[in-house]
This record gives sequence, C-alpha cells and structure tokens, in this order.
Amino acid sequence: MKPTKLIRIFCCTVFLCVAWGCQPSPKTHSEAPPAVEATVSDDLVTHFATADKLDGQEDQVVHRCYACALSMDGNSQIAAKGNGYTFHFCSDHCRTQFVENPDQIVSQAMDMLESAQ
Ligand SMILES: [Zn+2]
Repeated sequence: MKPTKLIRIFCCTVFLCVAWGCQPSPKTHSEAPPAVEATVSDDLVTHFATADKLDGQEDQVVHRCYACALSMDGNSQIAAKGNGYTFHFCSDHCRTQFVENPDQIVSQAMDMLESAQ
C-alpha cells in the first residue's frame, strides 16, 4: 500500500468522523436528572428521621440506599423525593424498586435495621 493511499484513507476517516460522529453534543452539561417523586404512608414517615441520622447529618436527605436496607451509600445523581425528604440510591434499579413500592421498601429497611441492632 502506498503512503499516499494511507493518507487518503486517514483524511477520509477524519472527514467521516467530523461529519457524522464527532459533532459536539448539544448538551453541554450533564446535570442531575430530576428527582422522581415517591409518596410514603404517613405512619412510615417517622422512620425517615432515623434513616436521615444514619449518615451523620440531619438534613432531610437520606444518603444511604433505602432499597439496600440503608447498607449502601446512595448516589446524589440517582435520587427520589417524597414527604419532604430526598433519598439517594446506589443504582437505578434500587430507585425503581423504591418508587414502585415505597412503603414496602421502607418497612423492609426498618425491619433490617431493627434486627441488626
Ligand atoms: Zn441500592
């Protein structure tokens, strides 16, 4: 293969890349997606204060993953809101579980906490 052919292939590849693949994305910042809402029964809301204290800060943000029975650290990019609290989850899967059945997830987490004490 002649070097000129290689250069032509290289130029062609660069052109194709610029034309189709490598344009700057219109999104300049990747901000946190909006938090999902999940409403928990009133009788379970009292448990949030306990979960809130686990991370050492009483800021109405539960930093531990509720779906993992508060044993995993949550990610602020994967959040849900409910009853005035913000919940962080370790994965999308965990957040989905919480949003679909918040009462069950909260009671399970509290049962696990109580049996661990
Ligand atoms: Zn989790």
